[in-house]
Amino acid sequence: MTQERVALVTGGTRGIGAAISKGLKAKGYKVAANYGGNDEAANAFKAETGIPVFKFDVGDFAACEAGIKAVEAEVGPIDVLVNNAGITRDGAFHKMTFEKWQAVIRTNLDSMFTCTRPLIEGMRSRNFGRIILISSINGQKGQAGQTNYSAAKAGVIGFAKALAQENANKGITVNVIAPGYIATDMVMAVPEDIRNKIIATIPTGRLGEAEEIARAVEYLAAEDSGFITGSTLTINGGQYIA
Ligand code: NDP
Repeated sequence: MTQERVALVTGGTRGIGAAISKGLKAKGYKVAANYGGNDEAANAFKAETGIPVFKFDVGDFAACEAGIKAVEAEVGPIDVLVNNAGITRDGAFHKMTFEKWQAVIRTNLDSMFTCTRPLIEGMRSRNFGRIILISSINGQKGQAGQTNYSAAKAGVIGFAKALAQENANKGITVNVIAPGYIATDMVMAVPEDIRNKIIATIPTGRLGEAEEIARAVEYLAAEDSGFITGSTLTINGGQYIA
């Protein structure tokens, strides 16, 4: 890197986000990791990595504006944004409450606006930016029991395609990573029998590792990845070939 770039990773203290934060730090980025509410995990992550943590709810625009301002004041203007924070609230649609629907849309899709809008003008004025959005295999293929999550994660892909077109002439790339099933708290919370059934549908015969997603983020964030924009990188062990 010609200069030390600053990266913000939302949901960057646990799971895939933690691997991304650590991976970017190892590549020489100044990293800030956001989280939502788990102070214990965030403090343990900070103690282990030395990466500063910033608590704000990615579903709340005012909180994101303030949180991103704090990151930029403490760490520097953000060059790389990884919109990774996400949740699931699964259930059959005919039983789904509006609360479950809204919670998932808010955290997984509203966050595309709330976390990107406050910093994109800065990226445009500096003629450089790397925006990397974490979608999901289930946004590509749909998943029974996840109408809310599938809708949000498909929305992320549409958002990226439009945003990529708007900002390509400003040195800003916008790309999506669509992970398959990765061994994090989110997936380990799925009952073991169901998890084993999922693994049986993955041609590689295993769950992915968070570090395998982190490596792809590092690639898309790089200075010399400037011709890759509007793309969706599928990383799922061959489970769904889009
Ligand atoms: P985890 O549940 O392990 O971690 C989620 C992270 O997001 C935590 O740091 C959490 O913070 C943060 N977060 C959740 N809600 C908010 C919020 N409202 N505001 C700020 N931060 C929040 O998830 P994974 O690592 O498994 O998933 C990361 C991303 O990858 C998600 O977008 C997920 O949908 C996607 N994904 C995951 C797959 C998998 O198999 N694991 C597959 C495909 C996509 P806190 O610790 O405070 O709760």
